[in-house]
Amino acid sequence: MVMKKILVTGGTGMVGKSFQQLSNKYDFTLLGSNDYDLRDSSQTDAMVKDTEPDAIINLAARVGGVHSNSKYIADFFKDNILMNTNLLDSARKYNTKKVVSLLSTCVYPDDAKYPLTPEQFNDGPPHDSNFGYAYAKRMVDVYSRALRQQYGCNFICAVPNNLYGLHDNFHLEDGHVIPAIIRKVHGAKITGDIPVFWGSGENLREFTFASDISKILLFLMENYSGDLPVNIGTTEERTIKSVVDLICKFMNYNGAVTWDTNRPSGQYRKPSCNKKLLELGWNKNDYTDFEKGLKMTCEWYTQNFPNVRGVT
Ligand code: NAP
Repeated sequence: MVMKKILVTGGTGMVGKSFQQLSNKYDFTLLGSNDYDLRDSSQTDAMVKDTEPDAIINLAARVGGVHSNSKYIADFFKDNILMNTNLLDSARKYNTKKVVSLLSTCVYPDDAKYPLTPEQFNDGPPHDSNFGYAYAKRMVDVYSRALRQQYGCNFICAVPNNLYGLHDNFHLEDGHVIPAIIRKVHGAKITGDIPVFWGSGENLREFTFASDISKILLFLMENYSGDLPVNIGTTEERTIKSVVDLICKFMNYNGAVTWDTNRPSGQYRKPSCNKKLLELGWNKNDYTDFEKGLKMTCEWYTQNFPNVRGVT
């Protein structure tokens, strides 16, 4: 089945923008909330009707780090469940051939067996700190499977772990861990103040470069039609402390750092298994090397400061 016209929701975000660099084999339409607000079902219908895509890469989401996920837990649930339910519904109504939705490893049960595998997706409650976002994202999988069963829709889901890259949100409270560290280190160089990082620094995370995700989602669009979500991130775990050390190195910061252990740092670890993606034919050497991606992100921030999201 030829899929040429691809609509990317969340096309103005970090992952969405990385579609701009991809091959012209596809005709991409990248849309954000100023184009159509997906919390509104009539706007969502209009978007799919107007653009007539062969396939939709569904990235639109209300996204944030530990702090905003917890502070706005009800809003995160409501906004995300509305956006995704409307999107899948409109795609069904207008016979979109394929939808690839992006979930997150945050949705896994807090007490899952490691490494995380999609079979465990609904085996228990997610971590308390982000249950609103997590349950809303789980429902994308549930609704995609229900539409497949009742209407034969070819809607699939992919599960990335922590993402980072160019065009990230560098807001100190609403952003994720890597952009927050980059901003703090950059700020420390300007002010001379010692940067304070959240938690003990001992937590472990896997990080995937955002532009790898766009390539993997197109790969899955072409090569996967199963009803089980597929984990798509790199599986190399790093402590937050080691990430801070690398960012200090790439930003030429040689001063002191401190850790505020009264601040939340989320789950201790959540390693994922990407065996299924590799079995489908994705080459693990095609993931961007972490140090290379992190250096590019630090350089991008320095070059674009202060005109980066979350700062201005
Ligand atoms: P992002 O940079 O925050 O971008 C979010 C996108 O969603 C933006 O294009 C935004 O549009 C759009 N959006 C938000 N509310 C909308 C609404 N009501 N109607 C229409 N569009 C709306 O997010 P990202 O980091 O690229 O994340 C992309 C996907 O990956 C999300 O589904 C997220 O859940 C998932 N994910 C991200 C991470 C991570 O670490 N970043 C980890 C796991 C999974 P505007 O900018 O125009 O408002």
